[in-house]
Amino acid sequence: MQRDDLGELLSEVEGYIGGLFSPQDHALEAALEESRRAGLPEIHISPAQGRLMQFLAELGGARRVLEIGTLGGYSAIYLARALPEDGEMISLELEEDHARVARANLERAGLDTKVEVRVGDARESLDKIQASEEGPFDLVFIDADKEAYPEYLDYALRLTRPGSVIMADNTIWGGAVMDDSDEEGSALHEFNRRLASEGRLSATIIPLLRERVDGLAVARVI
Ligand code: SAH
Ligand code: MG
Repeated sequence: MQRDDLGELLSEVEGYIGGLFSPQDHALEAALEESRRAGLPEIHISPAQGRLMQFLAELGGARRVLEIGTLGGYSAIYLARALPEDGEMISLELEEDHARVARANLERAGLDTKVEVRVGDARESLDKIQASEEGPFDLVFIDADKEAYPEYLDYALRLTRPGSVIMADNTIWGGAVMDDSDEEGSALHEFNRRLASEGRLSATIIPLLRERVDGLAVARVI
């Protein structure tokens, strides 16, 4: 099939995968609609990526999940749906407004008993989680401020156990990870470099087909 615009083709392919494997139900549709209505930035994961993350969480048999960067709770819905009946998830969000929208979206999805959204700078929330020994988590998903990814990796390593999975969104960042002059790209590259060289991890990046090329880093704690 010929396409003049590669970005358009990539978006269509992603839509094709999402349409087949991640059809949108009322809870997912309403989550995006309410997020838009509340003026939240439209930087959530795609349906295809949500399905991929849910699949990986199920494959790993995750029971306890930690998410860094909630936004409107769209990715949280996918991850929480991978959990067993007694599973639980904590999602960390800086903005009270985002957290409010996310809580309503999770309640509509019937997941409010499984997911707790905590407001505050993630570093402070993570310090508290560490201090109160709420870990280890079976899965940690990093998707907040990009400059802090290397720091979040340190937390993730402390809050997991052998067999746990660490995932991180946006680790190609439109190719900016290969550009030294891009601040966020450099931090993400540092994160990727550490993920690749960390002896306690077996890791790689799954390229994501989006109009803006991106990646989902996946790592297993050894
Ligand atoms: N995971 C979401 C998208 C998250 S967008 C999804 O795919 O549906 C990134 C979120 O991280 C934003 O809501 C932003 O407010 C939040 N964030 C940014 N810096 C943060 C920080 N220091 N601590 C906690 N959350 C932060
Ligand atoms: Mg993201």
